[in-house]
Amino acid sequence: MQENQISPSEWEIMRVVWTNHPISSREINDILKEKKEWKLTTTKTLIGRLVKKGMLSTEKQGRKFEYSPLVTEKESIDESIDDLLDQMCNTKVGRSIETILEKRTLSKTELEQLSELIKKKKETAPNKIYCTCTPGQCGCVV
Ligand SMILES: [Zn+2]
Repeated sequence: MQENQISPSEWEIMRVVWTNHPISSREINDILKEKKEWKLTTTKTLIGRLVKKGMLSTEKQGRKFEYSPLVTEKESIDESIDDLLDQMCNTKVGRSIETILEKRTLSKTELEQLSELIKKKKETAPNKIYCTCTPGQCGCVV
């Protein structure tokens, strides 16, 4: 299990830091002021957790600290998708990807790329996906 999973509030902070860095806690707080209405202490607490998790680096600039990302946005997104898919039965992954496709709006270009990827994946896909869940955690075993 991932020790350094990012909470929804921490994602808000990380997105600011990915977009603007190095950046101070006050600057982060200002950017999120209207969206989140967090007190500066709340923002500082979240930043502290992200530093502890190894997601942010901290550097002293004069009297204030500035923060920079230690992981890329893509790495973090990929990791959280992996974490989510690892939590479910292998046989439910396909249906979950369908749900994503149904619920989200994608551009024609993105859909074209997905079609290409699906075509390529089909060439080496197994005929059936098997459940490898712990007995008692999944009802799909036949
Ligand atoms: Zn299963």
